[in-house]
Amino acid sequence: MPAPTPKASDPRNLPEGLIDEIRRLAEDQGFQMAGISEARIHRGSEHYAEWLQRNFHGDMSYMERNADKRLDPTRLVPGSLSILCLRMNYLPEPSRRFRSLLDHPSKAFVSRYALGRDYHKLIRKRLQTVARNLAERIGEFGFRVFTDSAPVLERDLAEQAGLGWRGKHSCLLTRDQGSWFFLGEIFTDLPLTPTEPQAEHCGQCRACIDACPTKAIVEPYVVDARRCISYLTIEHNGSIPLELRKAIGNRIYGCDDCQIFCPWNRFEKLGELPDFQPRHGLDDIELLALFGWSERQFLDRFEGSPIRRIGYARWRRNLAVALGNAAADPHIIESLLQALPEAGELEAEHMHWALQQQQRQLAENRR
Ligand code: SF4
Ligand code: SF4
Repeated sequence: MPAPTPKASDPRNLPEGLIDEIRRLAEDQGFQMAGISEARIHRGSEHYAEWLQRNFHGDMSYMERNADKRLDPTRLVPGSLSILCLRMNYLPEPSRRFRSLLDHPSKAFVSRYALGRDYHKLIRKRLQTVARNLAERIGEFGFRVFTDSAPVLERDLAEQAGLGWRGKHSCLLTRDQGSWFFLGEIFTDLPLTPTEPQAEHCGQCRACIDACPTKAIVEPYVVDARRCISYLTIEHNGSIPLELRKAIGNRIYGCDDCQIFCPWNRFEKLGELPDFQPRHGLDDIELLALFGWSERQFLDRFEGSPIRRIGYARWRRNLAVALGNAAADPHIIESLLQALPEAGELEAEHMHWALQQQQRQLAENRR
């Protein structure tokens, strides 16, 4: 009779120095760092409840619906004892090269994480490989992997696991690698020893708060999503509030300002995977070129990209806002006028606004 496979979930079977082995396995799959958190949120539940209560989640009602699972990981995956947290750098080029795009209003700014292939599938697969490779070494154990795809308070868990600290902009950051990274989690039934959290190093700095174009960081560590450009251009389904449109500038998908201006990103590290390299010249492209894309072209070119998820109507809505913010240009007016007859209600409303902005500027220039 074959010897029974040892069960890794028995603590007596877990080898010493397992975290070093986990980190090696994580690095093999392109992650730069791994740590371990208990399967519980240490602090932050009151913070989260208050954030919801102040309606800072906007129309992301799923944040409310699954609050219990977010605040207690064992409700999401019963039997979880430890959570392996991993991070993977994605920045395709140094931020000093692309921050100047924000000063060129005729060009599009796309959040750097979205320039290449959608990270969800890629990271999930690699997390699974890390877990399977670990099982080969220590024996079978129960696990489930997540990356930004389930009710998981990723940043809190990663902070607990020592992958960085929560900055005043609410993202995780580190002293040696900056903040341009994705997070992923492996929920396990292994009784692992948690790794130590990192100390916080924001100090008196408030660069992210001051740099935020829409003043969405309403107090340190608290972001009102309803004002945040990432939320408005990606998650939000309806009309973009008039009072925030000018501040959005040329940001057509997401916003990176709070990371661009964070002093710790002097130490930013670039991503290593070719999957995160820009496609279709999105890292440096004119708004009008993108506005010329048909729905078919949008769907084809964004196959496998996170941008496809927002759909053509929101994409055109975002472009219209940016075109309204661009310097006066008769070509923009012509393109908007040409597009209007075919536009749906949401796009048309934003295109009319953009036309008004353009015509007002032209009139001013003539004076
Ligand atoms: S992503 Fe942009 S809008 Fe949102 S908090 Fe950061 S700087 Fe402000
Ligand atoms: S910009 Fe300053 S306050 Fe904001 S996260 Fe970075 S170090 Fe912290």
